[in-house]
Amino acid sequence: MAGTLLFVGLTVLSQVGGLILLVCWHVCRYRLFADEARRWLAFVSSGAAYVAITLLLVPGLAALFGRVPMPLFASAEAPVAPRSLLYCLLNRHYVKPRVRDLVIATARQMAEKYPGSHIHYMDGGFPYGPKFPLLPHLSHADGRKIDLSFCYHSGGKYSLSPSPLGYWVYEPPKPDEPAPYKGKPSLFRWDMPFLQGVNRDRKLDEKRTRDLLKTLLKQPGTEKILLEIHLQERLEISHPRLRFQQMQAARHDDHLHLQVE
Ligand SMILES: [Zn+2]
Repeated sequence: MAGTLLFVGLTVLSQVGGLILLVCWHVCRYRLFADEARRWLAFVSSGAAYVAITLLLVPGLAALFGRVPMPLFASAEAPVAPRSLLYCLLNRHYVKPRVRDLVIATARQMAEKYPGSHIHYMDGGFPYGPKFPLLPHLSHADGRKIDLSFCYHSGGKYSLSPSPLGYWVYEPPKPDEPAPYKGKPSLFRWDMPFLQGVNRDRKLDEKRTRDLLKTLLKQPGTEKILLEIHLQERLEISHPRLRFQQMQAARHDDHLHLQVE
């Protein structure tokens, strides 16, 4: 029962993770370490095999489907990193090559202006095919979208987003800012009140976030960016390709959603 739940859960979360773990467990548990006393060895080996296959085998096969993984770690050539390695372990960091190239080009330009700064990404897409839904971001299935973290600072230094996952710790509207959805509950907008106090010493870096948006909007391949209307106003930025989806989409005051042509 627990195995079935793990298989279903991992399949929903990571597309092929459930299958990989099933194969690893079968080989390790029933072929390599059948002895009950060494069951823990099977458990550890299955986990290690899962990580190895996810990082070494899945990317090569994804290329057959026109998907590439986003960088796992930031480097001088590609100052881009996942907000959490969980996105990579769950195969949620696959995109079309032009998305990866655009984000890397943007990150390089940002690093020239802000040395040592990186772009952090969250959900991109799955490695295989455009039909498998990436919950809860249904629009990400085609590999042309990726969610990026805003820029933050703390104690005079660059910092990561307050939320360890990059989502759900919001920059809500101030009293004088527009909030057209106020008092209108929506299935798509999750307020997560219990998370709003997390790491609030990390403040939104408005200047760097505005520059990030401007740099993304200058890239010829950028088709659309989603950002809440009150942040567009606060950051004093407007552009035909910078949009706000009101009630029909998730909140975009904890991250920005980038869509590439
Ligand atoms: Zn998105």
